[in-house]
Amino acid sequence: MRRAIYPGSFDPITKGHLDIIERSAMLFDEVVVALLRNIEKQPMFTTDERVEMIREVLPASNVRVDTFEGLLVHYAVAQQAQFVVRGIRAISDYEYELQMALMNRRIEPNVETVFLMAGEAYSYISSRLIKEVFKLGGSIHGLVPESVERRMREKVKLT
Ligand code: ADP
Repeated sequence: MRRAIYPGSFDPITKGHLDIIERSAMLFDEVVVALLRNIEKQPMFTTDERVEMIREVLPASNVRVDTFEGLLVHYAVAQQAQFVVRGIRAISDYEYELQMALMNRRIEPNVETVFLMAGEAYSYISSRLIKEVFKLGGSIHGLVPESVERRMREKVKLT
């Protein structure tokens, strides 16, 4: 059983994330989209909301959602996952990701980090950029799933 963890904050999930999830689902027997709890001080969505939003758009039956805290590689071992998937957008992602991957390998040599690239249509999107553009009134249509766009509109109305 080749199991992979795809970790992140997913605040909120974007089509870039979904593209990586779809690619991972073809490569591995099981993919766990793992939401890191409590990292950002002021997330737009609560952990529960983010989990729900991911569940609503899961593209394949071999993908599930979970949350974790603490060290990613400890979580991966506990989940009996041999792989961690990370998405690479631009060269700028590479330096940080390389550092993380090598540190994770040092702590847990049996967990391999696999880098995937989203399709170029989504390669420039980040959750942070989506939120910034949205809050300033720009259109994010097509860059996040429709259900996410709807929830973002509701969230802004409430605040
Ligand atoms: P983190 O806070 O760990 O970066 P994110 O939710 O922002 O969490 O992203 C999770 C993973 O998805 C990271 O590996 C990130 O590089 C990757 N990712 C995010 N957006 C994209 C995208 N548009 N294309 C490819 N990879 C992406």
